Amino acid sequence: MTNKRKEKALPLAGIRLFLFDLDGTLYLGERLFPYTVGLLEKIRRSGRRYLFMTNNSSKSAADYVRKLDRLGIAATEEDFVTSSEATAQYLLAHYRDRCIYVGGTRSLLAEFRAAGLDATDILTDKVHCVVCGFDTELTFRKLEDLSRLLRDPDIPFIATHPDLVCPTEYGAVPDCGAVCEMLYHATGRRPTVIGKPEPFMARMAMQRTGYGPEQTLVVGDRLYTDIACGRRAGAYTLLVLSGETTEEMLRASSIHPTACAADCGELLSALECIPDTPDAL
Ligand SMILES: [Mg+2]
Repeated sequence: MTNKRKEKALPLAGIRLFLFDLDGTLYLGERLFPYTVGLLEKIRRSGRRYLFMTNNSSKSAADYVRKLDRLGIAATEEDFVTSSEATAQYLLAHYRDRCIYVGGTRSLLAEFRAAGLDATDILTDKVHCVVCGFDTELTFRKLEDLSRLLRDPDIPFIATHPDLVCPTEYGAVPDCGAVCEMLYHATGRRPTVIGKPEPFMARMAMQRTGYGPEQTLVVGDRLYTDIACGRRAGAYTLLVLSGETTEEMLRASSIHPTACAADCGELLSALECIPDTPDAL
């Protein structure tokens, strides 16, 4: 791993919490990287913690547990920090008493309701807040409902994450950010964004585990989401070149990670050089 110029060095021995992006970092599509299981085991065995941090709000943590299980990674729902969970927390903090229209999947709607929010996908006079997620069940009726609601400037507009596209086995498909762009053209409104690159999810993960930013490393393959999120949360950041970002993109970017590696296999090798110490907390 190479530390980036003019940036602070990555003190790996002092890192207690690893926040991993998934696609492009631990696997690619349906292909698990060969070092992933060993890396997660190494982190656990050394008394450290890791959590998976994902922007994709079309799937719940339970859906992700099934996906990781299929790929060969044992996980529980508690191992995830999702943009839908962070959005639910944000809504509970700011709009607890409002009826919220959800432009998202049935899974997202159910998650919000389970969190205690008054969430709906039916347009009524009661609605006084709008949330957009990655809606793989999007219909034109929902776009019409969202456009009508957003005409009222007093109705808050929140997006679970800003990604314009989502990679699939057959190429990219429009994601939450692209739908928000459509709504911007129809209404002139831009959302408050919760997922990466905003720091909410990383802060939530640190709060949940009790570790501070100086003990936390955010690992991901995208500069403008993963690395930007880690930096805004004050954590250390590691860019891996196993997904979207190339060395040329890194050189041209104004977003600098603390360190860069070809892939998480290098992180595993670096961790194997550090003697295991019991958790200080
Ligand atoms: Mg990724």
